[in-house]
Amino acid sequence: MVSGTPPVEALTAHRSPLAAHALHPIGVFGGTFDPIHLGHLRLAEEMAEAVGLASVRFLPAGRPPHRGAPCIAGQHRLEMARRAVAGNPRFVVDDREIRRDAPSYTVDTLADLRTELGDAQPVWLLLGADAFLGLPGWHDWRRLFALAHIVVAERPGASLLQSDALPETLRAEIAARQVADGPAAGPAGAVLLRHMTPLAISATAIRDALAHGRSVRYLLPDAVLDYIQENRLYA
Ligand code: ATP
Repeated sequence: MVSGTPPVEALTAHRSPLAAHALHPIGVFGGTFDPIHLGHLRLAEEMAEAVGLASVRFLPAGRPPHRGAPCIAGQHRLEMARRAVAGNPRFVVDDREIRRDAPSYTVDTLADLRTELGDAQPVWLLLGADAFLGLPGWHDWRRLFALAHIVVAERPGASLLQSDALPETLRAEIAARQVADGPAAGPAGAVLLRHMTPLAISATAIRDALAHGRSVRYLLPDAVLDYIQENRLYA
């Protein structure tokens, strides 16, 4: 279920296959969002602009398979994400991973979305550079390229291609799939490396500050901070 303003793809779902070329690309942005912060929102905003996304779906992970359990319940992370995106007509929150009683594999989520949106819909998976570097550890990761394009938000001055941390398997995928700026052709399979404004904000540092009674104002939206305080989260 998606909350917020109906995304453009929902409004165009009745189009005939002949009109498929006119489908606007949509973005998929997963994370633990424990809590969601301005680094996440800025990544989505900048990548949406870079590839011309009609909407971005934020998907808080239920049970993230690659890391420890989130610090707080999925319902709280979901509600914070909803408050964070409120007011941005391009952003919506999708609760399917929270509702799924199984590990949140991105490949399953994208396959679900493909079934809903059809094979012609261009879909972009949004990833931070650190998440992208870990891709070869993800379940069935090569299938991701069949399901979506990937745009990677890089930090200026820290090029992925020059990084020693870039696994050879990923380097080969980039070499085969990299596209220049702007919308890619087709529904899936391209990789775009795109610089974003560096914001050294992490959910870990926010949780730590909250646990020690320090201010986290201006690191996340006020509405999210209000929710954290109302519910005494991360204290
Ligand atoms: P934690 O500190 O708990 O590991 P996090 O702040 O890294 O959390 P996640 O929910 O794990 O947030 O990240 C979701 C996605 O957002 C990942 O693709 C990650 O690379 C990206 N991301 C997180 N913080 C930033 C940031 N400050 N700038 C750019 N990308 C970010």
